[in-house]
Amino acid sequence: MSEDLVQAITETLGACLADAKRPVALHEPCFEGNEWKYVKDCLDTGWVSSVGAYVDRYEVELARAMDVARAVAVVNGTAALHVCLLLAGVERDDEVLLPALNFIASANAVSYCAAVPHFVDIEEETLGVSAERLRVYLAGISERRQAGLFNRTTGRRIRVLVVMHTFGHPCDLDALKAVCDEFDLPLIEDAAEALGTQYKGRPVGSSGLLSTLSFNGNKIVTTGGGGAILTNDLVLADKAKHLTTTARRPHRWEFIHDEVGFNFRLPNLNAALGCAQLERLEEAVARKRALADRYRAAFAGISGVRFFTEPSHGASNYWLNTLILDRPFAHLRDSILERTNDAGLITRPAWTLMHRLPMYGSCPKMDLRVCEDLASRIINIPSSAFLGGPAVRQGHSSPV
Ligand SMILES: *Cc1c(COP(=O)(O)O)cnc(C)c1O
Repeated sequence: MSEDLVQAITETLGACLADAKRPVALHEPCFEGNEWKYVKDCLDTGWVSSVGAYVDRYEVELARAMDVARAVAVVNGTAALHVCLLLAGVERDDEVLLPALNFIASANAVSYCAAVPHFVDIEEETLGVSAERLRVYLAGISERRQAGLFNRTTGRRIRVLVVMHTFGHPCDLDALKAVCDEFDLPLIEDAAEALGTQYKGRPVGSSGLLSTLSFNGNKIVTTGGGGAILTNDLVLADKAKHLTTTARRPHRWEFIHDEVGFNFRLPNLNAALGCAQLERLEEAVARKRALADRYRAAFAGISGVRFFTEPSHGASNYWLNTLILDRPFAHLRDSILERTNDAGLITRPAWTLMHRLPMYGSCPKMDLRVCEDLASRIINIPSSAFLGGPAVRQGHSSPV
């Protein structure tokens, strides 16, 4: 039976990707629009660096795509998170709540602020933070004082909640916002994986004080490397721009910097790539959803595993497609990873949980049973947008 499941998953995946050249990468970029034209324009005009028309244009178009008032483009998603934490008031020795099933970016960004990550659990329906369990947990461990919400166990202030839309699936923002309001915590959305994802009919990224995007090479829209800070608060947006552009006061010739800022601005060359990529976002989401449909249908007939589908409250961009093994078969995860990778079908497990990493092993955390359980059963499968295209184009030869 065990051997059957390893074989069935490998064969089904192979059949879904029959037309694609081997190896089939986990996620690779797709440059089918104006990318060459816009990048060439930067080279032809000499506007390649930290100033230029594509940066302004990219910020305007990103804000429109995400339905927020302002977007500030930065060098990567980690830098975006770092600056958002500072803007939310995170100070040395504060605690920042974030899910343990996560990419390393947000925990590291908390460390850059000399603050402490505090890990919370997720729910199986969304793979995002469980609002209900967070409420119960905070009611048990926290205490409201004049200076804010405090962790009674550690004595530190709990400053903000950073939620994440795992693999592009929208977490339950209304429920999470309600918990934040109840405990008077600002909310930050790490929407790095969720450009093109909707929650209750609107793009994610506008429920909290601030949110972030990433345009790394493996994301749905790439600028090579890049990120953005999004907000509906115009004062915060101006502060984000100031802080990420060396805190330089506008002046025709003087160099006056009025605080310790960061040189985090996205170069024009990268923004040019982003402008071209963003023009094709809708198409990319449609292709990814088509690929997800194909996977869902194919894996429906295999018992022992299920294809993870979007929660009912939203529409996912299906950034990274996910299989979840039934509990009795969790022990087969590594055999399946080995067999599929051997067959040129690139698959990966979920990230190592944050509290299992050496530098975050002693951080405060709630009971992380759902993270622990799911991390042992998740397998991510090839998800490049072109795989869901009308005719499966050949991939690039080197995976990102
Ligand atoms: C990609 C990603 C980021 C940001 O990564 P950068 O490489 O710094 O752009 C942040 N959070 C999550 C969940 C991500 O997947």
